[in-house]
Amino acid sequence: MPIYEYKCPSCGNIVSVLVQGFGQSEGPDCEKCGTAGMKRIISRVNYHQSHADRLSSYDPKSRHSDSFYRDSRNIGLHAEHMLRKAGVKPTEEFKSKLENLRSDPSRVIKDEE
Ligand SMILES: [Zn+2]
Repeated sequence: MPIYEYKCPSCGNIVSVLVQGFGQSEGPDCEKCGTAGMKRIISRVNYHQSHADRLSSYDPKSRHSDSFYRDSRNIGLHAEHMLRKAGVKPTEEFKSKLENLRSDPSRVIKDEE
């Protein structure tokens, strides 16, 4: 399930919310000042990095920040990295599964229902 960060437009309070489903842009009410509808913010990750860059800079031994795991585009990066290291070309099926997961992480949960 994706985690989004929301920021209060009045007091700047930031909360992390586990979102059921995908693409929800309307946030909860601010706990600090009571302002309704906190605004979703983009996590402080590098949003302009290409996927090839991500893959080549991926280090399986390094510890990843929370924002790494929050970023749905990093789903499957480890698997891709291992395949590449082993010299195995990912199959089209594998790639399309990853694309589905990245564009709609809630699908994993749907599939298990
Ligand atoms: Zn507030």
